[in-house]
Amino acid sequence: MEKIIFATTNKGKMKEVRAILSSLEAEVFSLEDLGIDVNIVEDGITFEENAKIKAIEISKLTGGIVLADDSGLEIDFLDKAPGVYSARYMGENTSYDIKNSAILEKLKNVPDEKRTARFVCAIAAAFPDGEVRTTQGTIEGIIGHEIKGANGFGYDPIFYVPEYNCTTAELPSEQKNKISHRGKALRLMLDILKDRI
Ligand code: IMP
Repeated sequence: MEKIIFATTNKGKMKEVRAILSSLEAEVFSLEDLGIDVNIVEDGITFEENAKIKAIEISKLTGGIVLADDSGLEIDFLDKAPGVYSARYMGENTSYDIKNSAILEKLKNVPDEKRTARFVCAIAAAFPDGEVRTTQGTIEGIIGHEIKGANGFGYDPIFYVPEYNCTTAELPSEQKNKISHRGKALRLMLDILKDRI
């Protein structure tokens, strides 16, 4: 059976990945499953570059097909910040309550039409023959006016989705996965993998 490694230690992501890739004749492993613990410098300037860096680095350490993702929040009013720096924004160890409050403060008095934002996710696949393929998914929304909702993680409590009239932190996880940037990028990757497995 084909072996797929998804380069993350995040259990929530692995659950989503396993669910979406379950139709493949493949076993899906996390880095934790394989006992791999590496610190990769993500110095790309796009989500796609960072996903590729991770997938290629890990594929040097293991066999099989290696998938890696990189994601973040782009806020148009802040010139697409925090973007690829989403996790590092205001410091890696700063709580999201503080980060989200700081963003709301920066957008204070900014009208809704200028509060447009999106979550972006790029996924890269490094194949044993050296080929590298990438996919990207986005979800559009606006930055809300208050912190709302307890589901999800990161910037979800300030990311308001007009179609659902709530933030992504107020959506049940199955619902978020159906419309999320990561779900979309993963389903596009599934189509590529189907042709190879
Ligand atoms: P990574 O791709 O796991 O490194 O995620 C980068 C960062 O982007 C996270 O630490 C969050 O700050 C942000 N982010 C990515 N996806 C989401 C999401 O679905 N909700 C909230 N924040 C997200």
